[in-house]
Amino acid sequence: MSLEEKQPYTICWAGGRQFQIYLEYDEQLKESYPAYPDFDAHPEYTKDGQPFATAEQESCPYGMPRMEGAPLPCDCGGCKWFSRENTPYDPIGVCICSKRRRESGTKSEEEKR
Ligand code: SF4
Repeated sequence: MSLEEKQPYTICWAGGRQFQIYLEYDEQLKESYPAYPDFDAHPEYTKDGQPFATAEQESCPYGMPRMEGAPLPCDCGGCKWFSRENTPYDPIGVCICSKRRRESGTKSEEEKR
């Protein structure tokens, strides 16, 4: 089945963008999993220059706990700079940390086409 025919597993909204998430099959585990974007390997930014991130993405050196005195987050989902657009469980969000902002932003994959 080609990508054009494949139906997305889910659609995520973040930072004014839509991300279609497809299932991929893991031969070793013998099960399918939702393949979220790898923003570490392929960074993408909002028009304001803030980076997109997934909740499960490993935290960066600027990560901060959501509550004072809590341990440092191990992933972006636990960081106070991770902004979700719709629900507290959104798997994709925007990192609003000013230290990670790019001045001009970069083009999204859709805008590059
Ligand atoms: S949300 Fe931003 S600041 Fe927080 S850990 Fe992720 S990339 Fe770093």
